[in-house]
Amino acid sequence: MDRTDVEAAVFASRVSGCLLAGAVGDALGGPIEFSTLFGLRRQYGDAGITDLIYEGPGRTALITDDTQMTLFTVEGLIRFGVRIPGKTAGSAERAVLRALQRWNDTQRYFGPDELPAGDHRTGWLLQQPWLYHRRAPGAACLSGLESRLDGFAEWGRPGNVNPDSKGCGTVMRSAPFGLFATDAPAGFDLAARCAQYTHGHPTGYLAAGATSAIVHHLSRGRELIEAVSMTQELLATYPGHSETSEALRSAVALASQGGATSEKVEMLGGGWVAEEALAIAVYCALTAAETGGPAAAMMRRALLLSVNHSGDSDSTGSICGNLMGAWRGAEAIPSEWLVRLENRETINTLISDFIVALRDAPSLARGVPPWQDRYPGA
Ligand SMILES: [Mg+2]
Repeated sequence: MDRTDVEAAVFASRVSGCLLAGAVGDALGGPIEFSTLFGLRRQYGDAGITDLIYEGPGRTALITDDTQMTLFTVEGLIRFGVRIPGKTAGSAERAVLRALQRWNDTQRYFGPDELPAGDHRTGWLLQQPWLYHRRAPGAACLSGLESRLDGFAEWGRPGNVNPDSKGCGTVMRSAPFGLFATDAPAGFDLAARCAQYTHGHPTGYLAAGATSAIVHHLSRGRELIEAVSMTQELLATYPGHSETSEALRSAVALASQGGATSEKVEMLGGGWVAEEALAIAVYCALTAAETGGPAAAMMRRALLLSVNHSGDSDSTGSICGNLMGAWRGAEAIPSEWLVRLENRETINTLISDFIVALRDAPSLARGVPPWQDRYPGA
């Protein structure tokens, strides 16, 4: 392989790692989302959970709304990438809104056979019955997508939809923007605007932008601490950034003390709100990196720390997985976790389509029929 091939393979592994490790972190945290640290220790011992908890008929580890929304976001971005210019919706934001509306459909109908006709109800992902499970979806995500308001706020001002909400439902679905965007500021803005479809509080959407920017830098080969500090600089240029900046500063300062513990994770909050969820994910990734060792050991440490606390474990696990996977690639995901992930085949299909679309979108956009069938105009 020449250098360009190697770079393409490394990037593909980071894209795949970001999304798969996010799903693994989500599945790790899902069953303990509503457990306290005290309860976790009483039930599982001092270390809390140390492995996936398998559920469901296939004894697989179930993903939750965090991964569901991330997958639909990826689907929206693929559709935008392969669109036929002039024939279909012209903006990535619009494509993502329609994809999120498809996710909203999965939470409101029992399965694809129940769906009424609708012009956004197209494509293969919406036909997957397993995505119709409700796994504690966020209230603002559901109500925001029902409200169908459009338009974006001036940076730092509240958005139109759920203007007081800054739940972590924005951050946990924003990694794909960083993979998709050609530079960090573009990904930041796209993530922050798409966050406003469900959450209008500036911290809610700016933390989503910051998540996208960190993922962007990692997926392009930056080291973890470098990706975080470049993002802090970018974030500081947006009005209304102070809560998110403060949360990131706390995460970096706490990580620099070394000695990661669940108690320290809890000093950063519960992760129910956007800036805390991002801070917890960043703290867990940074401390795992500090301890070093093989990539799979780091991934395991980061993900277990990111879920073993009293807060929103599936979202913090999901975001931490996004960061660790974008940084170290899919090879770093412990294989015994990967093989038990619910519907990994479908997730992998979407991911490999995303990788092809990121690479070849300009030529696919000229209209290759199988692609247009799977990912029709947004
Ligand atoms: Mg969840």
